[in-house]
Amino acid sequence: MQSVTNPTVVFIAGEGRSGSTVLDRCIGTAEGVASFNEMHEIVHQYRRNRKRCSCGDLPQDCAFWREVFADEGLSTNLGELESGFERYDGSRNAIRLLLGFYGPEDRRRLRRYGDLTAGLYRRIAEVAGVSVIVDSSKNPSRALILKRYAGLEVWCLHLVRNPVAVAESWARAKSGMDDNLPTYERAATYTRWALKNLACEALRFAVPYKRMRFEAFTAAPRKGLSEIKAWVPALRGRGDGFESEQEVRFEPFHSLQGNPDRFESGLVEIRRSRSRPLADSGLSWFQRGLASRYGYGRSDDLSG
Ligand SMILES: [Zn+2]
Repeated sequence: MQSVTNPTVVFIAGEGRSGSTVLDRCIGTAEGVASFNEMHEIVHQYRRNRKRCSCGDLPQDCAFWREVFADEGLSTNLGELESGFERYDGSRNAIRLLLGFYGPEDRRRLRRYGDLTAGLYRRIAEVAGVSVIVDSSKNPSRALILKRYAGLEVWCLHLVRNPVAVAESWARAKSGMDDNLPTYERAATYTRWALKNLACEALRFAVPYKRMRFEAFTAAPRKGLSEIKAWVPALRGRGDGFESEQEVRFEPFHSLQGNPDRFESGLVEIRRSRSRPLADSGLSWFQRGLASRYGYGRSDDLSG
């Protein structure tokens, strides 16, 4: 694995149901780029072999993942990769990872987990034949592991979405093929929305960081992707799958975890996500202030 160079990682951070699957797939249409949705789950889902890959096969029957895990350096260390994921990838670790508050034993484990993770990303890039990978694991802890312990070049897109729209989405059951996502009450979603977004903001101290509103991206997705390509040096000058301002061609790909929209392919119209009024939404004073700082609830917001 050492002979292959490290891929650049475009990392999408944010709260769930903020639209990361569609943003991830749009970036993944750029030349020399592949997207995989929530990459922190890859080893876990591959070992469980229950949910389908977005190509339709079970993970252990998918030719792409079989080739990735044919690598001996990975296949003999799947258990260690999975225990690293369980121990360090959760959002609760973000601040500790950011500040480096770990003793020698955790630091040794994190370095080992980082080395194995770097090997996994190099192997995925090699099998996919790309130099840039899009990872929408969303948890800021994952971005820190990739940067600090795997030693990868990470560009962080912090995706925010109107909290009222996020809560509506979490309250709805959403299923497709064999993906079933949980539903959450509005107040619990607002609390998580605020904490997760604040933790994502802290990533600006560790990696190149850009914040993007989902509503602005879906209003002009081709333009949004152009801005991202201009921002990440490894993406500059690369073509992409957009055929008009709102229409993009998605090729089948290999995602083991993400929104059920990951099963969609062909020419897809990106639908504009409208913002929502914050009045009578049940947001606390603090949550509303944060939403306002992201540009929501202002007089010009609802058209955006
Ligand atoms: Zn597959």
